[in-house]
Amino acid sequence: MKEEDIRPRAIFDEYLRLTAADTLTYFGAVARVPISCPACGAAGVAAFTKSGFAYDVCPACHTLYVSPRPVAEAFAAYYTESPSSRYWASTFYKQTADARREWLWRPKARAIQSIIERYASGDAGHTVVDIGGGYGLFAEEMSKLSGHRLIVIEPGPDLAAACRDKSLEVVQKFLEDVSLADLPEGGKVFVSFELFEHLHSPEKFLQTLKGLMSPDDLFIFTTLSGTGIDIQALWEDSKSVSPPHHLNFFNPRSVRLLFTRLDLEVVEVTTPGKLDIDILANNRSDIKDRFWKTFVETASEGEKQQWQATVSETGWSSHMMVVVRRP
Ligand SMILES: [Zn+2]
Repeated sequence: MKEEDIRPRAIFDEYLRLTAADTLTYFGAVARVPISCPACGAAGVAAFTKSGFAYDVCPACHTLYVSPRPVAEAFAAYYTESPSSRYWASTFYKQTADARREWLWRPKARAIQSIIERYASGDAGHTVVDIGGGYGLFAEEMSKLSGHRLIVIEPGPDLAAACRDKSLEVVQKFLEDVSLADLPEGGKVFVSFELFEHLHSPEKFLQTLKGLMSPDDLFIFTTLSGTGIDIQALWEDSKSVSPPHHLNFFNPRSVRLLFTRLDLEVVEVTTPGKLDIDILANNRSDIKDRFWKTFVETASEGEKQQWQATVSETGWSSHMMVVVRRP
């Protein structure tokens, strides 16, 4: 898989251009509140400002995060009505749906299935609940390969309708508004993909989720790791550092601090990412570090693959997967 397959440059650049304009419209004049590290609570140190958003880095756990943070209402308006959000949901998503299904969702469904087999208590009978399930591509792929009941939690009316067209069960609400009565009884595995970095308050999200989990239920999610090599080497020029979308960059160490604080057990943290080196090569002029710059310019394809494998295996990819259990 190459970055270009799932994120065609021209389409992605247009999305970034629209986002830059929306950032002024929706966040230009709103109130902002300074926050401490969302993982460990320590006071952060200024890292950089990008598109009018200031990022702090935590000196204790290296979490990178937006602070001061615009109030939650600004994000709600942005996500429901802005041109860049509509472009994402229509043009960008549709044009990359086939590639994403093949390269992202099918392998993800296989990975989730094997985690469920490894860690979920009992065997069949679990309901898989996809929080922010979008077009339902994961839910479709998951139902093809397992006997689990699938439920998508998706507040967006267009996306929820797309899921219903695929005969998927949908709870059309924000997670904060979901109650136990909306979900079936029995063991559950909650999943969310590329959502955690967007959350205005990860802690509030997790408190809500914990209220919906029974003992031994799992929460499996993917997010960006801020200590991943492409983010570290490109820093403020990393396209993953994209306000107003990505507000929280936890990492394999700091994410444990957050969950421990909330009395949730972290079962496993991995970084199965495959794109770090490819992203570096595509953005070589923005690399800050001499070694990586030389590496992507001169290393052979085989060497690049070898390094990518090591980066993933040792927890230093920017694509992170976390498995959590409610004790
Ligand atoms: Zn911290």
